[in-house]
Amino acid sequence: MIHPDTELRFVNDHIGYGVFATRHIPQGTITWARDDLDQSFSPEEIAAMAPAYRQILDKYSFVDGFGHHVLCWDHSRYFNHSCDANCLSAGYDFEIAIRDIRCGEELTDDYGTLNLRESFRCACASPRCRLQIFPDDMERFADHWDSLVRGVFQHIAAVPQPLWPFVRDQDRIAEALREPARVLSIRRNYAPLSFVPDCNAPRVSATALAS
Ligand SMILES: [Zn+2]
Repeated sequence: MIHPDTELRFVNDHIGYGVFATRHIPQGTITWARDDLDQSFSPEEIAAMAPAYRQILDKYSFVDGFGHHVLCWDHSRYFNHSCDANCLSAGYDFEIAIRDIRCGEELTDDYGTLNLRESFRCACASPRCRLQIFPDDMERFADHWDSLVRGVFQHIAAVPQPLWPFVRDQDRIAEALREPARVLSIRRNYAPLSFVPDCNAPRVSATALAS
């Protein structure tokens, strides 16, 4: 479920729609939580689908840590990618604002955290754009993403959390709020395919990202 202070807006013909803040959303806010109305499909179920359904899932779903495609029921399925995303997934079933999000700003996450099944060329215009986003980006950037999440995790208890009733793993989150070392790594949600990288494609190192 997407944060209630958001709405769907048309961006442009190339990008299509995106999710935008209708109020200021402070860092540490849970901006999306997986809920019981989101649909989940196993690889076997998808293989049995007609191509038209698979195309819809390719465009609108993400892959969870079990390798299942998750199709969100609300406008969270229109989250766009940015290499400088303001929301990130942690080792839980939620996304968190890693910095303050202004009213009117687009909410973005990093598709590199979402178990891509194919790479794609990125033109997000961020100075930190990785140019090509790969299915195995988690193997290079998980530490960087974890550090960003850990930097705001303690704010969870200090800011309004309208999605809290839908958040799973509440006990584990409470543990991590008491003991910051217990914040779960985003690697918990990694479901790699056997992936053969294209050696000619440009790659950005984690060191360059952190600079
Ligand atoms: Zn980019």
